[in-house]
Amino acid sequence: MTTSQPTVLIVGGGPAGLSAALHLDELGIRAVVVDRQVRPGGHAADFTCKASPECVRCGACMVTDRASLLKQRSGISWMAPAAVAGCRQNGGFHVDIRKADGDMGLKADAVILTTGFTPFDPSEKPYGYRKGSNGNVITHLELEVMLHGKGKVRRPSDGALPEAIAFIQCVGSRDLVLGRPWCSCVCCGSALRMAKRIQQENPSVKATFFYIDVQSFSRNFDVVYDDCKTNIRMVRAIPGDVVRTADDRLRVGYFDPVERRYTEEIFDMTVLSVGMGPNPDTPEIARIFGVALDRFGFLGKAPNGVFVAGSAVQPMGIADSMASGAAAAQSALEYLAKNMG
Ligand SMILES: Cc1cc2nc3c(=O)[nH]c(=O)nc-3n(C[C@H](O)[C@H](O)[C@H](O)COP(=O)(O)OP(=O)(O)OC[C@H]3O[C@@H](n4cnc5c(N)ncnc54)[C@H](O)[C@@H]3O)c2cc1C
Ligand code: SF4
Ligand code: SF4
Repeated sequence: MTTSQPTVLIVGGGPAGLSAALHLDELGIRAVVVDRQVRPGGHAADFTCKASPECVRCGACMVTDRASLLKQRSGISWMAPAAVAGCRQNGGFHVDIRKADGDMGLKADAVILTTGFTPFDPSEKPYGYRKGSNGNVITHLELEVMLHGKGKVRRPSDGALPEAIAFIQCVGSRDLVLGRPWCSCVCCGSALRMAKRIQQENPSVKATFFYIDVQSFSRNFDVVYDDCKTNIRMVRAIPGDVVRTADDRLRVGYFDPVERRYTEEIFDMTVLSVGMGPNPDTPEIARIFGVALDRFGFLGKAPNGVFVAGSAVQPMGIADSMASGAAAAQSALEYLAKNMG
């Protein structure tokens, strides 16, 4: 593929990559987006609207909007499913791209890496929240998929409305034992908004929120938080065990900080706020493009002409991932202006 118009390769078409591509297109620069998944939008493509009923600024619709814009832009090429197999630098980036219908070469003038994050697998918790469960211990991301579109909250085991739901925070985040001390930034706000939406649609549902402390960095979150707290029971403790009972419910054990003793409660469903960690592809992508990794395995310092953005760099929400993608596009533009005259 040859063209005189500058070309920027974007690896990863989630919120950060989509934003970078659209920004470049607006600047008149050709963007080629390579993604290993057919559908644009990354993890957030499956997210549900959490309006209850007013908009709570969860960001999900920004992703669907950007994904449909992508299809309308002739200056953006979407290549998927595809992956980068190698890269040689010689007057630009000569990239080998592996696609289902055969390999191809692409000459790019700059590269933006937006390969995103991987959600924590809760079975890696030493005691295993999901061990022996009846399928009713789900992750927040599985709940997003369940409620996507016109979906309703239901217990996976029998399709019944769960009358008592436990939301457990910090699963695979802020955990020194697992070597994952970072806060994933978005999950407290996301889980509270989700609980509020469920209660708005199903007023009989009782939601309990188990947490260390509530972290949220978005503007106006205090208003959402105050509103959530009126109907959601807040328990400042992280449960140690979730065990299936004889009547197919879930017994959740935790140290009650008020009573100062171990307590057990029964729930119909448990939702785990799994944290954001480095994508397992990151070391290989970093090797191909000569990018350093930080101490946890996220993308770090990049060489000239390569830019990194979004949750591949550190946990962040949709709006920040998009802003970071647009900033990387702007840096790529400045690099091209300097190097291509
Ligand atoms: C439990 C949970 C709840 C959340 N709730 C919210 C919320 O309510 N609001 C909010 O704003 N944010 C929320 N987030 C965060 C949100 O998911 C991220 O901000 C967003 O998805 C990050 O976008 P991204 O483009 O950086 O990465 P991703 O969404 O991970 O996209 C990365 C893209 O890169 C592709 N890719 C990966 N590796 C390769 C490779 N080797 N080659 C080619 N392509 C590749 C992937 O297929 C994907 O399309 C939540 C996250 C979690 C874990
Ligand atoms: S930001 Fe979230 S809550 Fe608001 S309309 Fe969009 S998807 Fe719905
Ligand atoms: S945002 Fe909340 S749930 Fe997520 S890691 Fe931070 S404190 Fe834990």
